Amino acid sequence: MSALKTSDSPPIDDGTKDYVPLRGKYDPKKPHTSEQPITWTNWHQHINWLNVFFILFIPLLGCIGAYWTPLYRRTAIFAVVYYFNAGLGITGGYHRCWAHSCYKATLPLKIYLAAAGAGAGQGSIRWWSRGHRAHHRYTDTVKDPYSVQKGFWYSHIGWMVIKQDPKRIGRTDISDLDADPVVIWQHKHYIKAALFMGLVFPTLFCGLGWGDWIGGFVYGGILRVFFIQQATFCVNSLAHWIGEQPFDDRNSPRDHVLTAFVTLGEGYHNFHHEFPSDYRNAIEWWQYDPTKWSIWVWKQLGLAYDLKQFRQNEIEKGRVQQLQKKVDQKRATLDWGTPLHQLPVMEWDDFVEGAKSNGRALVAIAGVIHDVAGFVKDHPGGRTMISSAIGKDATALFNGGVYQHSNAAHNLLSTMRVAVLRGGCEVEIWKRGVDGKTPMVDSSGRGIVRAGDQVTRVVL
Ligand SMILES: [Zn+2]
Ligand SMILES: [Zn+2]
Repeated sequence: MSALKTSDSPPIDDGTKDYVPLRGKYDPKKPHTSEQPITWTNWHQHINWLNVFFILFIPLLGCIGAYWTPLYRRTAIFAVVYYFNAGLGITGGYHRCWAHSCYKATLPLKIYLAAAGAGAGQGSIRWWSRGHRAHHRYTDTVKDPYSVQKGFWYSHIGWMVIKQDPKRIGRTDISDLDADPVVIWQHKHYIKAALFMGLVFPTLFCGLGWGDWIGGFVYGGILRVFFIQQATFCVNSLAHWIGEQPFDDRNSPRDHVLTAFVTLGEGYHNFHHEFPSDYRNAIEWWQYDPTKWSIWVWKQLGLAYDLKQFRQNEIEKGRVQQLQKKVDQKRATLDWGTPLHQLPVMEWDDFVEGAKSNGRALVAIAGVIHDVAGFVKDHPGGRTMISSAIGKDATALFNGGVYQHSNAAHNLLSTMRVAVLRGGCEVEIWKRGVDGKTPMVDSSGRGIVRAGDQVTRVVL
């Protein structure tokens, strides 16, 4: 018998290899800092100071610097335009092109995306995509590098501020990335590329363009990087925290227009986790997904090709199954009457006797006995008509003889059922299951009664 794998068991040979950083020293055999509990004396060893410097300290300096730096209109426009370009480098490049291979990019587009993405200060394509593939493969588990199960702030920024043991992060296959010269070049020269595209380029552009060297550095560089980092971190936090789950609610990813606005269209995250290699995140034309629109434009310009898209049939199947689950959950909260197979069997004579001598308000309809005592005074057709059916088989009366009762009336009647009649219609069959066929049940095993399908409804 095969045991379930835990995170500590040796990995299955699935063709993946441990991640090997191309820079720096890393020995997977040595115990990692994160294995020690955090204490007052060792907490600083648990902090990834390089990341703290880039994602917290530098932005803080930028905020302070902005107090003394006037913001000129041209610099502001440049910062916004450059913000969108660097953002596209991450969403259209790192994420949809490299991490998920949603489409293929030509060399000029790859160089643009790798350069623009480096200007967003979020690590190299290789490092970023490897973590993101692990996030998709092991969503919400201990092998998910930014699992939202560890809390909102952990998934947003904590996972970068606190050192993580690379051995803990789930393994994925990145052989395609290792074969891409643009990815490898950017990874090997990442620090230089990030400093140049993140800070030097905007400073030069605004300085040489209109003499605003400091504004270019503070607004076009530092603060723009800060905003874009925080915006894209929201895909790991906010997109797993707020919104709807129209395709599957067993994991945390969610769809929300707010997250989409913040992340250039990456906010339809429930769809994205279900259909990760689709070049779209938003599938409706009116939803905000500028990354999808950009990829489409690149295709028209001959810069992108092989755009992947799941068949609408597959997408709708997921949506219907999730809707069904919601309907089943709602159905489970309603009173559908005691199931027939749980009711006692009553002889005809006992039924008549109970109504006549004992004064019980029993009515038989289609072989099911109902106690209508509490309903006589509320009967929409009046007290007389319902009283005349007590102690009788009212199947025909109920089904058009006197009045063709509504679907709602059949539903209400089912909540009053108290017994089934021996020899009355299909009692014995109901007791053992209809016709030997399994009764239709929902995902939680409860019987389904469709409109017009109630047992008391008889076509005469
Ligand atoms: Zn996710
Ligand atoms: Zn993804």
